[in-house]
Amino acid sequence: MIIRTKEIDLPAFALSSEFNSLKYHIKTLSYLTRAFEARNLSHALLFTGLQGVGKQAAAKLLSMACNCFKRAVPGGSEPETDEQSGDDESNIWPCGRCRSCQKILNNSHPDILLIRPTGSLIKIDQVRSLIQKLSLKPYEAANRFIIISDADSMNPEAGNALLKVLEEPPDRTTIMLTARQVSNLLPTIVSRCMHIRLNPIPEDFIARVLKDNHEAAPDEASTLARMASGSISKAVFMKTNHWLDRRNHLIQELVTLRSRSIGFIMAFAERLSQDKEILTECLEIFRIWLRDLIIYRYAPDRIVYADLEDTIRNEYRKSDSETLLSLVDLIHTVQKKIESNGNVRLSTEILMMKMAGQYR
Ligand SMILES: [Zn+2]
Repeated sequence: MIIRTKEIDLPAFALSSEFNSLKYHIKTLSYLTRAFEARNLSHALLFTGLQGVGKQAAAKLLSMACNCFKRAVPGGSEPETDEQSGDDESNIWPCGRCRSCQKILNNSHPDILLIRPTGSLIKIDQVRSLIQKLSLKPYEAANRFIIISDADSMNPEAGNALLKVLEEPPDRTTIMLTARQVSNLLPTIVSRCMHIRLNPIPEDFIARVLKDNHEAAPDEASTLARMASGSISKAVFMKTNHWLDRRNHLIQELVTLRSRSIGFIMAFAERLSQDKEILTECLEIFRIWLRDLIIYRYAPDRIVYADLEDTIRNEYRKSDSETLLSLVDLIHTVQKKIESNGNVRLSTEILMMKMAGQYR
C-alpha cells in the first residue's frame, strides 16, 4: 500500500530528532490511527522503507496515538478533550504529555515492547521471551503494541516462532514489524501483515529539517540532503558528525595531490586504508566527486556537490571522461576488496597514485 503524504505542524515532542521524519508521513499515520479508532486496524503491521526513513518512529508514534489519554481512544480511560473534533489530520496526533505518552516516549511503558537485533540477528530466545510476555494480559495499556525492529534480521527459527503469534494474535495486541524490504522476510510472515510502505523523503524536505532543527546553513543543508538518499537520520548523522568538513578536507587533498611527492601520496593512502569504515565513506566521497567532474561538462546543474561548483569548474577539464571513469572503476575495486576482506592498502595506494596522475 502506498499512501501519498503531505506535511502539517506537529506537537512539540515530535520536533525531536527521533520523530522529525514523521511530518512527512502524516497521511499514512492518520490513515492508520483512523483505522484503529474504527477497530479496523490489522493486528499485524509491516512497515518497509529505506534505513532512516522513519519506520520505527512511525510504529512508536502509532502506539502513542492509540494509547494517549487525551485522545478519543477505544478503551481509553480519560475523556476526549475539546481539541479532538473534526477531520483535521493534526488531530490524530498523541498529546505527548499524558502519563501514557510520557512512558512511551521514555521507552518505559510495560506494554509497548521493542524487540531489536542483538548483534546482527533477532534470535529465537528473544521471540520465545516475547511469546511468554504475550501470554499475560497487558499491564496497564488499553492496547499493547510490540515493535519488532529490523524484522528481516530474524533467523528462520525465530521467524517461524513469530509466525505462530501472528496466526493467533493475543487480545488487545498489535504487532508491528519494520524491515527495509519485503523480500528479506519469510513470505508466510508478510502474508499475515498489513504492509505499509514509507516512501523516501524528498531532498527539499530533508534540507528544511536540517535548517530548522539542526542549525545547518542553506548550502550545507542542500548538499547533505542530496547525499542522504531519502533518509533524514542519515542526513542528521552526517550533520552532527561534521561530514561536510571531512569532505572538504578530502577534496582539497585530492586536487592538490598532483603536486605532492610519491612519499606523501603513499602516506595519504596508508592513512585512508587504516579504518575500513572510514575508507568506505571516503571512497563514496571520491566517487561522487568524480561523477560530478564527468557530468559537469554535460549537465552542470545536475552535480551533487553544488556547493563546490567553483572547484569543479576549475578541475573538470583537467582530465577526460574516460580517465575519470577508469578511476570510478578503481574505486569499485577497492570497495570489493573491503567487502571481501582483501588487501585494502595495496589497492588504495594504486587508486591514489592514479588519482594523482590524472592531472599529469
Ligand atoms: Zn497523550
